[in-house]
Parts: sequence; C-alpha cells; structure tokens
Amino acid sequence: MAVEERGSVGQQRLVGAEGDYDDQQLEASLRPGTLHDFVGQKRVRAQLSLVLEASKLRGRTADHVLLSGPPGLGKTTLAMIIAQELDVPLRISSGPAIQHAGDLAAILSSLTHGEVLFLDEIHRMSRPAEEMLYMAMEDFRVDIVVGKGAGATSIPLDLPPFTLVGATTRAGLLPGPLRDRFGFTGHLEFYSVEELELVLRRSAGLLDLTMTSEAFTEVASRSRGTPRIANRLLRRVRDWALVHGVERIDARAAGSALDMYEVDARGLDRLDRNVLSALVNKFNGGPVGLSTLAIAVGEETETVETVAEPFLVREGLLGRTPRGRIAMAAAWEHLGLDVPEHAAFKDPALKTALATEPDSEDPSST
Ligand code: ADP
Repeated sequence: MAVEERGSVGQQRLVGAEGDYDDQQLEASLRPGTLHDFVGQKRVRAQLSLVLEASKLRGRTADHVLLSGPPGLGKTTLAMIIAQELDVPLRISSGPAIQHAGDLAAILSSLTHGEVLFLDEIHRMSRPAEEMLYMAMEDFRVDIVVGKGAGATSIPLDLPPFTLVGATTRAGLLPGPLRDRFGFTGHLEFYSVEELELVLRRSAGLLDLTMTSEAFTEVASRSRGTPRIANRLLRRVRDWALVHGVERIDARAAGSALDMYEVDARGLDRLDRNVLSALVNKFNGGPVGLSTLAIAVGEETETVETVAEPFLVREGLLGRTPRGRIAMAAAWEHLGLDVPEHAAFKDPALKTALATEPDSEDPSST
C-alpha cells in the first residue's frame, strides 16, 4: 500500500481556520471597524447593536458578551467593534495566558472605567481564575488572598465597571455559572458563499485589487465558510497575479492560483482529498476504522480526526458511524467517480447510525 509522506500538515495549512503570525498584519488591515461593515451574522449583529445602543442610552457599561463559534469567523473583530462603538479602550488577553488568579487580578485592577476586556479562549482559563471572574463580572469586586494557610486573609478590592467580551470555540465546555453571568450570548455561524464574496470585495478594495464577480465567487467557494481563510486565499491570489503580471483577476486566474496551492473548487486541500480518496479507493467507501484510515494516508489518527474530518463531515462527504468512517455519495462525485451499487452509505443500518449520532462540536476548534 502506498503511504504518503507523514505529517504533511506540520506547518500551517492554507485552509486552516486558526490564525498564525503571518496572518496578523494582513488581518489587522482588513478588520472591519464598525458593525455596519461587519458582513453577515445578521442575527448576532442586530442583537449586539441593541445591547450597545441600550448601554449608550442608559449611560452604563454594556452587559458582558459571550461570543462562541469556530475560529476565524469574527469573534476578535466583534470585540474590537464593541469597544469602538462604545468609544472605550480595549484590553486583550486569553484564557491560556491566565493561569493564576493573580494574573487575572492584575488585569482587572488595571482596567479603566467602562473598558472592554476581551478574553479569547475563555474556556481555557484556570479554575481559580474563573472563580475570581464570577465575582468580578457580577459585583465588580475581587477578593485578593494574601498569605498562606491559617494566616491567609482576603482583601476585597473594588473594580471599575467594565464589559467582558469572552470568546470560545467550545461554548459547551464553559461551566454554567460562568455562562450565566453573560448578559448576551451570540453564536457565530459559518458564512455563505455570498457573504464571503462581500468580505472579499471589501478586502480586495482595501488591497487595491481588480477582480471580476466570478473571481470573487471562485475564491469564496474555496474558503470553507470562513472569512479568515477567504482573506488568506485572496492574499495568495494577489501574489499569483503580481508574479504573472495579471492586472484584472478573473475566475480562471483565481482558480489557477488556488489550484497551484492545491485548494480545490470546494475548499478541500491535499490532506482532505487524501483522506477521501483513501476511503473511496482503498476501502471501497468503508466502513473503516479511523486508525486504519489514518495509516493509509500516512497521518496521525488525531490529525485525520481533528484537522480533516470536521470539514468533510460538514460538507456531507464523510460520515462517522459506530462501525467506522464511510464515504457519502458526494465523495465519489467530488472525486469524479461513479457511486458503486453497494456503497456502505446505502446500508439502512449505517444510515440510521449516522442520523442518530450526537451533533458534536467541531473538534478542530479546541
Ligand atoms: P476569530 O476571533 O473568530 O478567530 P477574527 O475576528 O480574528 O476571528 O477574524 C479573522 C479575520 O477575518 C479578521 O481579520 C477579519 O478581517 C475577517 N473577518 C471575520 N469576520 C468578518 C466579517 N463578518 N466581515 C468582514 N471580515 C471579517
């Protein structure tokens, strides 16, 4: 059995939703600064707008806001917009950076009146810090413990009122008491191709790129419902056009650029296609165990499960069943093959197992 070189996803994937260092500068220049410029997420935008407006009318700090959803959909951008709309400063930190209650106390005690505190990956904060946060959110007060053992005393410290904006990729992992202290919770959904086209149009304008409508559609369809990926692919298209001396980017140019980076028409990259192709060609559409599938593509089991699978499942290309992974009809179609007569997905028992599987959160977004 031919085995691909292991670890092809060692470095950042072009279609990975997490941001990397390379993204930061471009992202900063492309971030919409107002709710008006923030594309899509209609419901969250309307509800958030109400929260902000009410806070301005009352002359009080806005309710704490929890934003949940997969990476790259705009949680950080929204936190920045909230601070901007309220005309207050923004402090940024993250759950993993706050390992001790003291770390959080230091941040909280240095906030200014009305400031927005953005805590990314809030589900990864340590338990003692989390408990301190409960009181801070509710009463704008913390108890600082001084000393150890029997001689320890706690000194209450008043805080200026502030607005906490928490972001999490896994809302289900947040303890109830923490979740309950947010006045508003918004869940961000994946974007439609049309919405991503709007994101790209705005970005292309800022980058001074001339592109046809079809070119925007081409890039948007390969962006996996995620603005961060859309902007990253746009950057690759821009580089390609520059090198090839193309001034007006049409669908063919955009397609050629992204084909070169092995991102196909549906946004699958080489790893995704290898998984799909092994499932279809080597295992006849399954069912096959995850570890066997991983060996066949020369990747770690975890890589296949957390990096490739969530998107393949979301796209209806792959199914998870108690008996293993199966290819869905769309998998053969995507690979340009005929669906075999006895494909596993047609088996009524497996079909039922698919339908009853719990709707788990995207494991790639931890
Ligand atoms: P998250 O915090 O959810 O990982 P970010 O807020 O950092 O995502 O967004 C990633 C990038 O995608 C940002 O640079 C921003 O330019 C772009 N982006 C995200 N959501 C939108 C949107 N609704 N409209 C326009 N651009 C967006």
